[in-house]
Amino acid sequence: MRGRRGSFQMGSFRGIPIRIHFSLLLVLPLLAFLFGGVFRQAAAVAKVPPEAVGGAPVLWGLAVAVGLFASVLLHEMAHVVYALRAGGQVRSITLMIVGGVSEVTEMPRRSRDEVLMALVGPLTSLGLGGLFLLAAWLLPQPGSFSPRFALTYVGSLNLFLGAFNLVPAFPMDGGRILRGLLVGRMGMVRATRTAAWVGKGCAVLFLGVGLFTFNPFLAFIAFMVYTGAEGEARQVLLREVFEKLHVEQVMTPRFHGVEVDATLEDARGDIRRARRPALPATEQDRPVGWVVLEDVLQVPEAERSRRTVREQVRPAVVVSPEDNVWVAIRKMAEAQPPLLLVLERGRLVGTVDGDDLNAAMALHLSSGEDTRRWPRWRQERPA
Ligand SMILES: [Zn+2]
Repeated sequence: MRGRRGSFQMGSFRGIPIRIHFSLLLVLPLLAFLFGGVFRQAAAVAKVPPEAVGGAPVLWGLAVAVGLFASVLLHEMAHVVYALRAGGQVRSITLMIVGGVSEVTEMPRRSRDEVLMALVGPLTSLGLGGLFLLAAWLLPQPGSFSPRFALTYVGSLNLFLGAFNLVPAFPMDGGRILRGLLVGRMGMVRATRTAAWVGKGCAVLFLGVGLFTFNPFLAFIAFMVYTGAEGEARQVLLREVFEKLHVEQVMTPRFHGVEVDATLEDARGDIRRARRPALPATEQDRPVGWVVLEDVLQVPEAERSRRTVREQVRPAVVVSPEDNVWVAIRKMAEAQPPLLLVLERGRLVGTVDGDDLNAAMALHLSSGEDTRRWPRWRQERPA
């Protein structure tokens, strides 16, 4: 997966880019404005005379909005620090309109670590909430209405953030804690399915409450939770199946590609016959990359028999027959187009594309057979 679109980098933390989503830039002034309004009301309720309210309400609103997002950043950093300590890998932190998202590319493998990693975020928010409220309480009473109100507001929002994230709505923090607790008893796939099922239930509930109270934020969160739960459950199943397989068990054996000196018209014919979106390109049987149907079709028909494959070769992503399929999929996700060449000692022995993976998945789901017993290409190879 590539970096989140619509965001820019603000800084970095231990080499991990911290990104800000544009939606946040739009919503910050809005939040400042809304807080400003609440602030004025609160001053009226507390019978603070307008001249005693220090500073423009909108500026206090802005301070509260910035404080809140600094708090969300600290919540995310707590997850990241723990993930790194437990041997996980994190690609980026993105601060968005509804909070933060840490893109953890490699989860800690022990379920106890996943529970703790999920727990440190909400604990950080609850702790920050307590600190802000304590600071508000410590300020001298008379003449400090503005800072006290701002601190109380940020403190309460942090308490809410901490509590809300503990709701077991997978993939939110509470849902991850639930899954971590179930893994020991159920195994990863069933624990994720169960947590995802509870998460979707919560999402439906959020949507109901969001519609009933005209709260678009809650409806948006419901949507994120629902699609997130589905996506993660699928990813865990894929990983479980593909981690046990070698590339040679799912690849399409293929020893020849389209020669780079062939015309684009010939390439189009070969690709059609192979019923694939692309074929390897070779130079005197040495693999050099891919030729993709989409590219060939962009050349006007009249020119295809005059131009050669060489000018359309896309660089290849290479794996070996022994590689674990999950590793290959991660390489695939970063490649454009998402296709892999399988090479053994520099020679082409096969290709992997989405069709190969779908076929392997379908076979696994319909047969339920232990994938480790699937034949390996080496054993079938004619001597
Ligand atoms: Zn969190």
